[in-house]
Amino acid sequence: MSVFTHPELDAHELVAFHSDPSSGLRAIIAVHNTRLGHSLGGCRMWNYESEDEALTDVLRLSRGMTYKAALAGLPQGGGKSVILGDPRKDKTPALIRAMGRFVNSLGGKYIVAEDSGTSVPDMRLMAEETRYVGGLADAAAQAAGRSGDPSPATALGVFIGLKAAVKAGLGRDDLSGLRVAVQGLGNVGSRLARHLHEAGAKLFVTDLYPPAVERAVKELGATAVGMGEIAALDVDVYAPCALGAILNDATLPLIKARVIAGAANNQLAQPRHGQALFDRGILYAPDYVINAGGIIDIHYEGAHYDAAVVDAHLARIGTTLGAIFERSRRESRPTAEIADRMAEEVFLGR
Ligand code: NAD
Repeated sequence: MSVFTHPELDAHELVAFHSDPSSGLRAIIAVHNTRLGHSLGGCRMWNYESEDEALTDVLRLSRGMTYKAALAGLPQGGGKSVILGDPRKDKTPALIRAMGRFVNSLGGKYIVAEDSGTSVPDMRLMAEETRYVGGLADAAAQAAGRSGDPSPATALGVFIGLKAAVKAGLGRDDLSGLRVAVQGLGNVGSRLARHLHEAGAKLFVTDLYPPAVERAVKELGATAVGMGEIAALDVDVYAPCALGAILNDATLPLIKARVIAGAANNQLAQPRHGQALFDRGILYAPDYVINAGGIIDIHYEGAHYDAAVVDAHLARIGTTLGAIFERSRRESRPTAEIADRMAEEVFLGR
């Protein structure tokens, strides 16, 4: 495993490795950029096949957080951490505490939050070892109905972004009767589907987990479709809210939607797929811009949580996407490329 010559190293400021034999912790923290402020990003626990796979993941994810924070208008940078291990078998209070001490050792350069394989209760335990933990709802946040789970804010942000994309791509202000395919009805997808239903959209849904689909059919009047059919449906909007890399060589020629706007991370299998969507006249809402509601919410989970302030900030996701769509049209370049350039203009100050 090489670090200094790693293809994903980019301009990372810091990569820290730690092992704690007494708890079995093996973890990496990557801090990509702190020009705008401390780095913030989730702690992922995953049973990686190799140390190299873990390093690649943490480097990619932490870089992505810098871009996400910059376009979300937050005074912070990007970082991420990974714990090597199976969260179902290897996660113990001692291991989580040891991770808290590792985070603490960086003195605030990196603020940890939950991610796949870690939870809000894990973050509470880490907070007994370090104050550098985000995503813990304080009393004011709890009174506003926020629990520390970023999914409701993410879903609201995606809904706002989807409306901006529909306006830019289809020239419509009103979602009534709009046909939307929602892939994945988990924490974010199920809430997005509810917002869309309340706005009058007609839903087509799929999920690996049948009860989630049955609920959407029963409560939202959604039409259930097969997992293999969702990307190819004759709809207005495709909202990927499950896996990454679903915009690829196999799915791209099948897509009939004119707008793609969903929560999933890393939707483009490769950057060239952003160009291919642009060439086909499909308006793509860049994933890290539209799904930034969670980190916006975490940002405000300090001492003075005010839901109205958070909601006003979430509304800016729509404005930012509008600016990206407009510049993409003006410069004839894909939206994903424009988003990257705009983020770099913010965090590199050029
Ligand atoms: P989740 O695990 O709660 O939900 C994902 C859902 O997708 C599950 O119900 C799962 O059964 C389903 N699924 C998995 N594979 C599928 C497939 N092949 N076809 C259809 N459904 C499938 O996750 P989530 O928190 O809702 O996040 C969804 C996506 O949004 C992820 O890509 C996540 O990284 C991204 N995201 C989430 C947040 C957040 O705040 N939770 C923030 C930013 C980005």
